[in-house]
Amino acid sequence: MFKDKPREACGVAGVYGAPEASKLVYLMLYAMQHRGQEGAGIVVANDRGFDAVRNTGLVADIFNADNLAAMAGVSAIGHVRYSTTGSSVEKNAQPIMVGYSRGNLAVAHNGNLVNADEIHRELEEYGSIFQTTADTEVLIHLIARSAEDDFLDALTDSLKKLKGAYSLVLLTDDSLIAVRDPQGFRPLALGKIKDAYVAASETCAFDLIGAEYIRDIEPGEIVIIDRKGMRSRRFAEKNTGEALCIFENIYFSRPDSWIFGHSCWESRRRLGIMLARENKHAADIVVPVPDSGVCAAIGFAEESRLPFAMALIRNHYVGRTFIEPSQSIRDFGVRLKFNCVREAVKGKRVIVVDDSLVRGTTSRKIVSMIRQAGAREIHMRLSSPPVKYPCFYGMDFPTRRELIAANHDLGQIAEFLQVDSVAYLSREGMLKAMPNHEGNFCQACFNGDYPVDFKNRQEISGRDVKEKQVSRKRITQI
Ligand code: 5GP
Ligand code: MG
Repeated sequence: MFKDKPREACGVAGVYGAPEASKLVYLMLYAMQHRGQEGAGIVVANDRGFDAVRNTGLVADIFNADNLAAMAGVSAIGHVRYSTTGSSVEKNAQPIMVGYSRGNLAVAHNGNLVNADEIHRELEEYGSIFQTTADTEVLIHLIARSAEDDFLDALTDSLKKLKGAYSLVLLTDDSLIAVRDPQGFRPLALGKIKDAYVAASETCAFDLIGAEYIRDIEPGEIVIIDRKGMRSRRFAEKNTGEALCIFENIYFSRPDSWIFGHSCWESRRRLGIMLARENKHAADIVVPVPDSGVCAAIGFAEESRLPFAMALIRNHYVGRTFIEPSQSIRDFGVRLKFNCVREAVKGKRVIVVDDSLVRGTTSRKIVSMIRQAGAREIHMRLSSPPVKYPCFYGMDFPTRRELIAANHDLGQIAEFLQVDSVAYLSREGMLKAMPNHEGNFCQACFNGDYPVDFKNRQEISGRDVKEKQVSRKRITQI
């Protein structure tokens, strides 16, 4: 059912109590476009009920002055969607929106449920008819079927049945609700703008609209915002098995955001410092792979006292499709996105810093480009440990078979990339770089310890997950 489902690392936003709520959500989505470029949607509540605009494409292309003006209302939620597989793109557009016995309800979800299949099957046996193949829809069915009279009780009851990663914003006719799963895999922040409350995956969304960041929604917390103001209740105990996604800090979030209560920029810079401490090497310049490698490269250059050179220039306007001349051009694809400044690297010993290596295919092309530009030596440095295991909690990683570090040692990776040396940051170094390194991070992609286990894990991942049982503090699902 969900086997071909994408693992979504999306972005969500919500507003309660502001005139032009949909415009504020639109701007927040704009700031979080990096969290998903496949599609976007906004749902607004007003006296007519709910109005929605949802489509595939970029935020700038989907929304315009007319459709935003038509979405009047003081509360709204929105979603930007990461890559999807296959055909069901439109059907699965978010926020999901329904009208049912209690009124209207819309949900926007960032993360990935690992037991959606089971719940889906059970609900269908009891007669539920699903409109989408998105895992998020199971929550709506659970709420609708709940025996609890009160909406919040029904929500609490339903959330306890979900396993996996979910940062949610929900919109009802008269409230905005923000929820983070008990492990807190994905970020979700709370802010204020004048008398209105806002919620967003990343605080860079608050900066754009001039909202003040108050705090994060806590793992296992439900924050309710309505006419009476803001209140909070828990559906899971506090501090029982947090598993914050460390990859948000390494790669996914924008560096100007505060992630899990700390500056992402600072974490990334410190990753670069740790990397330089662990991997001293004689060189002339430090070159980042933009954009994701820049902050770590700044830290690396600072620590190793080497000049920082923006020798790779990125074209920010590369679309999805392009027309290649029939006579093929060497490295055409990667050259569309990157070019190397010859004058910066010619005759130099170059340290290339990137945040992570996934398949290794892009990096290989980048290396070949730097080599052609005349670099004397190329040393690849990664500001994260080797990515060896797939993510089931929302990061868009390929299967184990395709992850280069899962099947190759350092020598083979260096050979594949055609570099003079390659080195990764250690796991200890990575944790030390986190300002809240007492924080309990999910590191499943690095060590295969999945903090929330689930049925069919082996089957789903093509039998490519470490056989051993979860050794780490196990989360008892409630
Ligand atoms: P590779 O050389 O392994 O093909 O690609 C490495 C690049 O992929 C790095 O620059 C890294 O920033 C980027 N990357 C890391 N994680 C992800 C992800 O989940 N999705 C995408 N699209 N890129 C990623
Ligand atoms: Mg990158």
